[in-house]
Amino acid sequence: MSTQRIYLDHNATAPLRPEAASAMAVAMSVCGNPSSVHHEGRRVRALIETAREQVAKLVNAKPLEVVFTSGATEANAWVIGGGKWATILSAEIEHDSVRGPIAHSQSLHHPLPISAGGFVAVEEIARHAFTALVSGDRTLVVLQMANNETGVLQPVAETAQFCREHGLHIHSDAVQMPGRLPIDFAGLGVDTLSLSSHKLGGPAGVGALIIRDGVKLASFVTGGGQERRRRAGTENVIGIAGFGAAAEAARADGSAEVRLADLRDQLEAGVREITPPAVIVGAGSPRLPNTTSVAMPGQPAETLVIKLDLAGFAVSAGAACSSGKVGASHVLTAMGLAPDIANNAIRLSLGWNSSKADVATFLEVWGAVTCPRALRAVA
Ligand code: PMP
Repeated sequence: MSTQRIYLDHNATAPLRPEAASAMAVAMSVCGNPSSVHHEGRRVRALIETAREQVAKLVNAKPLEVVFTSGATEANAWVIGGGKWATILSAEIEHDSVRGPIAHSQSLHHPLPISAGGFVAVEEIARHAFTALVSGDRTLVVLQMANNETGVLQPVAETAQFCREHGLHIHSDAVQMPGRLPIDFAGLGVDTLSLSSHKLGGPAGVGALIIRDGVKLASFVTGGGQERRRRAGTENVIGIAGFGAAAEAARADGSAEVRLADLRDQLEAGVREITPPAVIVGAGSPRLPNTTSVAMPGQPAETLVIKLDLAGFAVSAGAACSSGKVGASHVLTAMGLAPDIANNAIRLSLGWNSSKADVATFLEVWGAVTCPRALRAVA
């Protein structure tokens, strides 16, 4: 068996981009608290402000709208937990970092139904929002841009338009977008948007909440006056520098969408040809170009993940970013998929360093891994 590993799990975390590693090495070599007024402090402050501009540019936001956090989990928790919302509208397909704070909040939660294609219909949001508005609520609508398990895209721009017309706050978790599809924060019309550095080739433990200029949101982490008094705590300078450089590299890679879609299409065509019973979840919906959720009826996802791991491939069963979690995916269950699909879907996610050779090598072993008789023949 080849010892070369092939990484097909970019939606869990992406390999560090060389640009991010270099920027972090520079940031590591300088000493200074960015809040200090002396030369050393100002030099470190400059690294943070460069990164803020790079992240802002990636999503077409103003630099002053970018607030660095410890990641998207904190950014999501900030909006949900810090907003004192009377009512929250969100769907079950959201990431646990959205579902957890909602479950722990005092707000009334209106669950939004999911279509079989894996997305929320704008009409449903309007219907539920009207129910919430009747009581004159302070209402938050949360709608992710793209699902981390299926890659299915949500109608965020249309929903944002509705929310703005009716005075509702709309927050979007855009973690899975950068490096896959462009984001236009200014054009989208959402109030807040969360990002995570490690999904686009920066380091983990850093992210951002983008807060539209003029939107008021109470600080979640209070204390010092960092981040324009919006998020206290001495900044994670090394992480922020890496995040900025990764954002810049992702923005500069204008061909990512086409390249990834091409690889994903080759992957799915190969899977369909080798194993005709395979079901590609969300295949008929608008999707991220890098994500494939594939279920083999009768073959549990956990077993496939282990077999593929032994064969040299890193893939996930559902959203494997929740450590060691086993069981049916809440996303696929919310889509109403039969247990034989919901329990068996594995996620293959490509990214900035994925190649045609990775896909070809994967397809070489796919038949053997999924067909026990063929596996015996290979062994
Ligand atoms: N939202 C989505 C859609 C995600 O995929 C993730 C990461 N698994 C997060 C939020 C959490 O991001 P972070 O790891 O930066 O806390």
